[in-house]
Amino acid sequence: MDVTEKFVNIAVKLEKPFNAFFDVPYTEDEIYEQVKTFKCGKAPGPDYVCNEHIIYGGNTLLKWICYIFNTILKCEDIPLLYRHGIIIPLYKGNNKDKSNPNSYRAIVLTSFGFVPEHGAIPALYTLKECINVFMKSKSKLYVGFLDNEKAFDKIWHDGLFFEIERNRCNWKIMEYTFMSYKSASAHVQYNGLTSDNFSISQGVGQGDQFILDANAEHSITYNIITTLIKYDLFAFLETYVNEDYIPEKVLWSKIVRQSIEIYEENRWKSNLENRNELKRYSKIHPTLCGHRLIRLTVLYPDAKLELLVLVALGSTAIKKATCTLCNKESFDIIKHLIMECHVLLTERNVMFYKIVDEPSIPKYVDIFNLDDDDLLQVLLGAVNDTVYDLDPIDWSRMMYYIAKHVYPMFKKFRHVLFENRFNFEF
Ligand SMILES: [Zn+2]
Repeated sequence: MDVTEKFVNIAVKLEKPFNAFFDVPYTEDEIYEQVKTFKCGKAPGPDYVCNEHIIYGGNTLLKWICYIFNTILKCEDIPLLYRHGIIIPLYKGNNKDKSNPNSYRAIVLTSFGFVPEHGAIPALYTLKECINVFMKSKSKLYVGFLDNEKAFDKIWHDGLFFEIERNRCNWKIMEYTFMSYKSASAHVQYNGLTSDNFSISQGVGQGDQFILDANAEHSITYNIITTLIKYDLFAFLETYVNEDYIPEKVLWSKIVRQSIEIYEENRWKSNLENRNELKRYSKIHPTLCGHRLIRLTVLYPDAKLELLVLVALGSTAIKKATCTLCNKESFDIIKHLIMECHVLLTERNVMFYKIVDEPSIPKYVDIFNLDDDDLLQVLLGAVNDTVYDLDPIDWSRMMYYIAKHVYPMFKKFRHVLFENRFNFEF
């Protein structure tokens, strides 16, 4: 069987209908239009096929290229070789440190090009058209130039697929993107040396702008704008445009970070305030920054498990459950187990004596005069009025010992949580 027959056979077997974006198969003319724009004297991809080969390959080769592309569309699979690129590190110059990888731009020579709608020329065309339209209507046109250089290198592939999926794009676009980027690989070539192959898990191909539809809502740029609006950053941009002032990169990233923090923090707080079952948790972990007790696990790796148990107990919702130790029903099972259940009286006393006897716990912390609710909060890591002015080092040490002594008691009642189907990992 010759190659032609093989191809025809594969094509016939594929019954999947073409649709929407990929509806129309590539034509030889279309490919010829692109081939005409190829420049000679360029480095070949990993297949060692140069532009010259394609330009001078004539109609016969064109026919085959067209065949291959349409088979790719139909099969929804891109040949491995097409997903492999050669990375050439290009020194950025400007006296940048030559030993620092960031001083090099990674240029990928990929085999899959031919994507007609993408690249700088259409962007320039669009810009020119915009200028024309606005000049005719004699109105102002503001143009935002987005430095996507680093952003696109660092696009997180799974996030990209999530976005495409969320935007309810055509499944074929999803498949196509997925196959182009998943299992993409490359090797680095430098000074005649060749590295091993490695897989690429971030970055998009140059010129792949991901405006996937006539509708611009499917573009990364659109997402950036909605993100700016969401975090109240768009107003900044408007002011900058009006005042003809663009802040330094460092200042801008500070503004972005602060705006996001403020927004997320407020959202977090209002979510907690509206939910009674999270009241204790909101006292223990009132801000969005890392949980204090989780940070302590770095300081005290030997008490990691014990500290994480405290975090889990403090994060558990206030929920009604039956204590299988004393058969009483409690509206707050965590409080009942740690502070009230009479079956655990001995264990509780042992725990409290040990904590009180701990020399590292400053005597002026009068935690045992607190009411049950406040004491429980302190035990689970809250910084309330009583421990507020405690030196952070003293507080850390105190929590270390509390975690060590709460843990044995927890072992006695953990089964109650499992029996009540609490989602508990420990
Ligand atoms: Zn009980």
